[in-house]
Amino acid sequence: MTKPVFRFAPSPNGRLHLGHAYSALLNDALARRFDGRFLLRIEDIDITRCRPEYERAIDEDLAWLGLEWERPVRRQSEHFSDYRSSFQGLKGRGLVYPCFCSRKHIAERIEVIEAESGEAWPRDPDGAPLYPGSCKGLPSGEVARRIGAGEVHAWRLDSEAACRLLPGPHVFTRFSLDGTTDLVEAEPWRWGDAVIVRKDVPTSYHLSVVVDDALQGVTHVVRGRDLEAATDLHVLLQRLLGLSTPLYHHHGLILDPGGDKLAKSRRSEALSALRTRGVTAAEVRQRLGFAAQPMPST
Ligand code: GLU
Repeated sequence: MTKPVFRFAPSPNGRLHLGHAYSALLNDALARRFDGRFLLRIEDIDITRCRPEYERAIDEDLAWLGLEWERPVRRQSEHFSDYRSSFQGLKGRGLVYPCFCSRKHIAERIEVIEAESGEAWPRDPDGAPLYPGSCKGLPSGEVARRIGAGEVHAWRLDSEAACRLLPGPHVFTRFSLDGTTDLVEAEPWRWGDAVIVRKDVPTSYHLSVVVDDALQGVTHVVRGRDLEAATDLHVLLQRLLGLSTPLYHHHGLILDPGGDKLAKSRRSEALSALRTRGVTAAEVRQRLGFAAQPMPST
């Protein structure tokens, strides 16, 4: 039997905080418990925000916590061709369309729609307005002309076409830390026509993560609850691309004393800062519930 495969997949766009430590420690503890493998994956498609020094800091922080992972580490920025070929598969089947809209244009368009209808326009699980479809169904001649002229564009999933092809239900398996599993019905449509290939890089978080999880043989995805809703879209993409769907566990988030989620953007205290203050790795592990027993119960 093949071993279960777990992964911790941070983005090197800032310093890791206690929330990342929890996620990494939990993946490692589960890999140990199930005699599985533990991988580190560097999600650095955002070439403007990711920096080599943050990647070095990830290595340092994880080693400080006492973790060991397989090498070589997969670095997404080195695999754009994998994402490109998956994208070509979607494109070849008419499941994506180019979108030339700026964020500003989308916001203005939605303001008009809301003013005209008197109703709030639906939002995706991250709170962003669903794409209003301005570029959907543009005449092929116009598309060819604009792309030929070098106009920047993203590529969006044509959710209607995807739904026609695969109406669902799209079910995946969720597992709990006590070993139980249940089936969950994904609702990918609440993401609308999501961006599958960004304007600035030939992929997106959603596309890269499903391609990599499949290529790396990841069997168990363990990540924070902030990414739970994204799983709905990931399950649909896996089906569309003919990839296998891992089991999922979305763990609770580590909160700061004010009850807010830790975030790089909120400048939550970094593991390296804790280290400088003299906090030990053993204290961090204990605080996160990994000291006395191999794994916390929540
Ligand atoms: N790279 C993502 C992050 O740092 C995590 C992706 C995942 O675990 O699926 O938030």
